[in-house]
Amino acid sequence: MSMAMQFVFLGPPGVGKGTYASRAGPQLGIPQVSTGDIFRAEVKSGSELGNKVKGIMEAGGLVSDDVVIEVLKKRITRDDARKGFILDGFPRTIPQAEALDGIAKIDMVLNIALPEDILIEKISARRVCRNCGDLYNVASIDREGIKMPPMPPKEEGKCDKCGGELYQRADDKEEVIKERLAAYNKQTSPLIDYYREKGILVDFKPTAGPEEMVPKIIELLKEHGS
Ligand code: ADP
Ligand code: ZN
Repeated sequence: MSMAMQFVFLGPPGVGKGTYASRAGPQLGIPQVSTGDIFRAEVKSGSELGNKVKGIMEAGGLVSDDVVIEVLKKRITRDDARKGFILDGFPRTIPQAEALDGIAKIDMVLNIALPEDILIEKISARRVCRNCGDLYNVASIDREGIKMPPMPPKEEGKCDKCGGELYQRADDKEEVIKERLAAYNKQTSPLIDYYREKGILVDFKPTAGPEEMVPKIIELLKEHGS
């Protein structure tokens, strides 16, 4: 099959982009490309790039466009992205979107939206595996027509997949969440109009947990792949 499937998952922090991309990607045979995961791995390894972005990430700011664009270019030209990819957390600014236009042909942008009070609750309750990046959440949401059950690990503090230690990201703390939401509203939300005008934006409002939402998302992706 010579199908190319180049997708962007757009949405504020905590909306579920990472969870959805990490589950939908493998089912379609395309990688989840998360610039946040790439940067966290660089910080962990103590590389030059990691040291450069560490402070910005901890403060909830955005890494400079030049740096992110270069990292992204390198990643999507790797062999496993030949059939396509799901971009999770990129682009986050208009210049990043313009750069992406020059190197890819995006089939669809999934605009994922949740009310801000739910985002804050979900981010505060998020835990990540230090070893493999698997995501967990102990928030239990049932209001505003949205019913999201908690996704706890089987054993407290321990990753189901690899047994690694679960931790709270430094930027998932209350003070930083506000900064990240502000960065999203100011710098990233203009991308909604940018892609709507191109006619490739699809709006998606999750109403339940990933077990129910991921199959719906996969259907949308299959419909819109080229
Ligand atoms: P979120 O949960 O906010 O979607 P990510 O894991 O996508 O978090 O990103 C974590 C941090 O990494 C961001 O707050 C930002 O500092 C940096 N980052 C990731 N992707 C980008 C990008 N495309 N442009 C600028 N900064 C980025
Ligand atoms: Zn793990």
